[in-house]
Amino acid sequence: TLSEPLDIVNFPTSPRSRWPIECEIIGDIIQHIEWEPPEPEPFYQASGHEEEPMPVGEERGKVVYSNDPAIKHHYFTFSRFGGSTRPERISTSQIHTSDVTLEFESRFESGNLQKAIQVGIHDYELTLRTDMYTAKHTQWFYFRIRNTRAGVTYRFTITNLMKRRSLYSQGLKPLLYSERAAKENGVGWQRAGSGIRYYRNISQARDENSDSATLFSLTWTLQFPYDSDTCYLAHCYPYTYSRLQRYLQRISSNPTVMSFCKLRVLCQSLAGNAVYVMTITSRQANRLNTSSKKAVVVTARVHPGETNGSWVMEGFLDFLLGDSEDAQILRDNFVFKVVPMLNPDGVVVGNYRCSLAGRDLNRNYKTLLKDSFPCVWHTRDMVKRLMADTEVLLYCDFHGHNRKNNVFMYGCSSRGDASLTLKERVFPLMMSKNASNKFSFKSCKFRVEKNKEGTGRISMWKLGIRNSYTMEATFGGSTLDDRRGTHFSTQDLKSLGFNFCDTLLDFCDPDKTKARDHKIKSYFCHFVKKKVSAAHHSLFWVITYSHCSLLQKKVKKKKKRLKSRRERNGLQPDGARSSARPKVLQRSSTSIVRLVKSPCCSD
Ligand SMILES: [Zn+2]
Repeated sequence: TLSEPLDIVNFPTSPRSRWPIECEIIGDIIQHIEWEPPEPEPFYQASGHEEEPMPVGEERGKVVYSNDPAIKHHYFTFSRFGGSTRPERISTSQIHTSDVTLEFESRFESGNLQKAIQVGIHDYELTLRTDMYTAKHTQWFYFRIRNTRAGVTYRFTITNLMKRRSLYSQGLKPLLYSERAAKENGVGWQRAGSGIRYYRNISQARDENSDSATLFSLTWTLQFPYDSDTCYLAHCYPYTYSRLQRYLQRISSNPTVMSFCKLRVLCQSLAGNAVYVMTITSRQANRLNTSSKKAVVVTARVHPGETNGSWVMEGFLDFLLGDSEDAQILRDNFVFKVVPMLNPDGVVVGNYRCSLAGRDLNRNYKTLLKDSFPCVWHTRDMVKRLMADTEVLLYCDFHGHNRKNNVFMYGCSSRGDASLTLKERVFPLMMSKNASNKFSFKSCKFRVEKNKEGTGRISMWKLGIRNSYTMEATFGGSTLDDRRGTHFSTQDLKSLGFNFCDTLLDFCDPDKTKARDHKIKSYFCHFVKKKVSAAHHSLFWVITYSHCSLLQKKVKKKKKRLKSRRERNGLQPDGARSSARPKVLQRSSTSIVRLVKSPCCSD
């Protein structure tokens, strides 16, 4: 039997999180409504006349907000619920009603804004807080603005970004949330801004004596929809630890779900926040014996600023825990081990990449330091124990990507064994068929890089999981098919979690019409021509069909057969199928049905 993780979860009545003691937190409970834009939101079209304001600095501007717990301590010491015990410091300059100065705030869960300097009447220079106890990784921003004026054009310029390239140069727009728009019109996070430009800070580069690395700026202009509104700006749709706790709390109060889902605490993070692990599989006596099932391991949010990974995860869980026939088939045939948030501390404090150890956890999977890197040490240990009991068919870690559009996967590559080399590409290829307007197979890479040996992907592959992947969902949007040039919404990200489940079904029981599809054939022929010698040309067919029939034989022996999608689609009318699915996924499920009916859609 599978060895049990630590404790059964007892949720507090309201979500609570532990913070490093130096962090000051405001008392306000911040929640945002969920909303789907009526039409996909287009990328920003640069005119070429965007301004590139250079940093003015504190000397010539007015500091209107300053919050910097990152440099108070050099390393993590203690944590407590709610952070600092000291009374709340006023970090925003006093606002008079006649004053048009914006009021900034970021001292809340996942918030990140270090400083705001007013450099013109409606012009603000912003710096982001580096990851705690490091001097790096400025990328994620999420802060509140009050005292807005409608009809006024404001400019915001973040001046301490460190990446050379950014999707903000390819049409990505920042996100805006207006509390009044949410309350009055039910509108949530939306893309906003004009004059968007990402560029190098020239003044800094000229200063050759400076030790500081070259910095980059992101500038944009913005009009707020209402006077005296409370608004939020963010790099991506926030997804906090508290939100995950509320989600898990909801699940744990549903007896049907709890009959096939066990929720446990895998370990405590450095700050003492629980890292949750879910075991999802059918348990009825007439179903398959758990020990004969293969396992699938799915994790997310090792990088706290990659909130898109959590939205994909929520879509994945919505589907897998739902009452559809497909979800039932998956639960009957697999044991799912799911760690929905690997780095809760980083998420709580608003880091972009690191844990409170000041390190990137996704470079430390090989660690022996259980106490310094508990989240990844215990995850790897859990997988090792799982592998002792059963075969782990697939491992996937959900991430966000900051430089490329679309969704894609990184896999590993077995050098010298061409048959394995191709097999590792099958799942991503099928994924690209199921999400053809979002997922790009061309962007997938299959490598075992020396400098990435500490990643979950490579360390799990080295443990022996052949299909070991990182799935990267862009911060931007799609360049494919009918979605070309549009941003991803939260529903788009969730639909990828659903596509992931559907691909798992296909992977184990492919629809023959699809396996024969010319697109898959041409992909593989192209790949074979390019990367493998001509002698291996026929391997594709051998691999595709041996792979499928092998699995089917095994499944048949268990007297519980996975149904192909064609079969699944044929069993019920489309309407009945989509109504059985979680509501949020209906849009994508209809597009998949369409895809199957007309398999010759363009790239
Ligand atoms: Zn990442």
